[in-house]
Parts: sequence; structure tokens; C-alpha cells
Amino acid sequence: MELSDSMLGIASEGAFDNDPYTGMLPWNYELVVLIDDIRKLEVIGFFGGHAQSTSRQVSSWDELNALLSEAQFTTHQLVVRPDDEYHPECRKGIKDLESLKEAFDWATNLSKKGNVFVENDLRAHTNPTRMSNILKATQDLSRKMNSVCPECESPGFWITERKKGLPCSSCEALTNLPIANVWSCVKCAYKKEEMLLDQIKADPSKCDYCNP
Ligand SMILES: [Zn+2]
Ligand SMILES: [Zn+2]
Repeated sequence: MELSDSMLGIASEGAFDNDPYTGMLPWNYELVVLIDDIRKLEVIGFFGGHAQSTSRQVSSWDELNALLSEAQFTTHQLVVRPDDEYHPECRKGIKDLESLKEAFDWATNLSKKGNVFVENDLRAHTNPTRMSNILKATQDLSRKMNSVCPECESPGFWITERKKGLPCSSCEALTNLPIANVWSCVKCAYKKEEMLLDQIKADPSKCDYCNP
């Protein structure tokens, strides 16, 4: 924004991890940020979802071929390295069988024991699964930009906190289940609490007193 002397900027950044539920599936978090220097505000769109990030060490061309459908090659591109994931040299953006064979031969020649490390290219333009996650983060940003603070009319009025404390249906103790959403403005101090009306009482199985 500084270099182009722009008052409006939009940027994205992603991270890869294991899924937050089982910790076993490849997961991708995407963040899209709008910086508006005219209205002095920052609005953030976010999405977490499945990642296409297969990776494996192989020692033959056949072994590599067996991996291709899991890696969703050729819709998703590949990176090839000699030895293992730590080798400093690599070939990126491999998108057809011919260049894959070339990269495989190159890596085999450079490797110590004939092993080659193959993984999905995670750069957004080479990985359509990531593109679709960035799209969803951008849709989240767009929903937030279209939500306006009732107090100061700034865009970006959104849920920032989920309050816990839904009462137990048997003993009335407060549980850890959500009871309300807190909406906050990104510009002024205005906040609004919105009660969640889908459940009025918590099941005693979720209560620390009834079911310790
Ligand atoms: Zn406001
Ligand atoms: Zn209870």
C-alpha cells in the first residue's frame, strides 16, 4: 500500500496444520484482510478447511505413480526434492507427467540413497483446494464488510465472542455450552449481545454438577 500510494489494500495469508477435531487430517487456514486507510479500519475474513497436502518419500518411479491419485495430480501440482523434506534444492510447480519424470530423475541423481521426496505444491496458484478455501475466507470477509455497526455505521460489525453458560435443565447450574454471541464494532466501542435461541436449557450430560 505504501509503495503504490494506495488507501485500500487487500492481502491473504495461509497456514497448514492438522485438523482441530481429530488432529489426523491435513488442514488449511486462510486469512484475507482488508485495510481501509480512508475509514481507518481493518476487517478480517477467515476460513479453515480440508487441505490437499499429500507428502511421501519414494524410492522408485512406480511408487511415485501409486501416489498420484491421492495427490490429485495433475489438477494439483507437485514439488520434488532429493532425499527428504529438508533437502535445500527442489523443483516446484510440476504439472504434467513429463516434467514429473524429469524432476524424479534429477532428484534421484542428487540423492544419497536413491530416495525422492514428493509433496503437493501448497502455493495458492498451484493448489485448487487452497484456492477454494481462500474463496471462502473472502466470502467471510465480504459478509463482514456488508454488516454495519448500528452505532457508527462502520462496516465490519461481527461476532467476536461466544459467551458460555447455558443453564442445566436439571439443576440450573451454568454449563460450558454457549448462551449468547457478542457482536463488536471494529471502529467504535459498541457491543451487542445476542441470545442463542436454539436451545434454552442444557442436557444434564453436559453439566459438570450432574455429570462430573
Ligand atoms: Zn461502531
Ligand atoms: Zn446439572
